Parts: sequence; C-alpha cells; structure tokens
Amino acid sequence: MNERAILTGHCLCGAVKFTATGVPHEVGACHCTMCQRWTGGPAIAVKVAGMDFEGEEHLTRFRSSDWAERGFCSTCGSNLFYRIVGTDDYYVTAGVFDDPSGFWLASQIFIDEKPDYYDFANETKMLTGEEVFEAVAKGKMPE
Ligand SMILES: [Zn+2]
Ligand SMILES: [Zn+2]
Repeated sequence: MNERAILTGHCLCGAVKFTATGVPHEVGACHCTMCQRWTGGPAIAVKVAGMDFEGEEHLTRFRSSDWAERGFCSTCGSNLFYRIVGTDDYYVTAGVFDDPSGFWLASQIFIDEKPDYYDFANETKMLTGEEVFEAVAKGKMPE
C-alpha cells in the first residue's frame, strides 16, 4: 500500500486548483488547538511530495508559526494545506482532493488536545503533542 500517486484537487469555489505528486494512501489527523481553530474541527491531511497550483493569485498563505504556513482560498475560504516553510513538505487537507479513494486514516497527532466531544473509531497510531515534538527534534516528522 505504498504506491504514491499524482492527484488533482480544488477548493469549494474552484478558483484554486492543484496537482499533488507523490501522494501516499496514509492520511493523518491533527487534533491540536490551532488546527481546530483553522478547520473548525480536526485537520485531516496527507503529506505529499510536491504541489503545483493553478489560480495561485487566489491563494492566501497565512504564517501560523515560526516554521509553518497554512494555505486557503481567498474567495471561498477552503483550507488547502499546512506547509513547513522553506520546504516542499505540504500536508494537503484530504477533503479537497477530487478522488480520495484509497486513502485510509493511519495516524492521529496531538491526541492530548482532542476535545471530548468526538472520537474516531479508526484504529490508528496516536501521538501526543510532546511525542510529536520529540519526533521532530530527532528529525523524524511523523507522517
Ligand atoms: Zn475557492
Ligand atoms: Zn494541528
């Protein structure tokens, strides 16, 4: 299940379209308080190898921390990606792909910040925020 595909996607209004390369099947959910505020719920995203945008002038990149930015459509507000600044590490929101068939929820991070009002039934890897920062410090960002 490690085949990496080229997939297209777009925002709700269609002003921003993209082609993502190296898209794996494994999808991750982040329950951190920043993602909750950004998406209105958990952020469910897939780490891709590269992104090519069409309609980039409709794309706003918000610098949410020293190391990351979050991209969204300036017209319809669709949340499109989280990106580590200065890298091609794009975590694209799973719901904006045209064809998400084959995706499966493999991991959940910042599980300690998840609100009590929901739980995913999926059997996944789970990491607390502290475990995520430990993995990043070792140069191993969890996917
Ligand atoms: Zn849009
Ligand atoms: Zn998060």
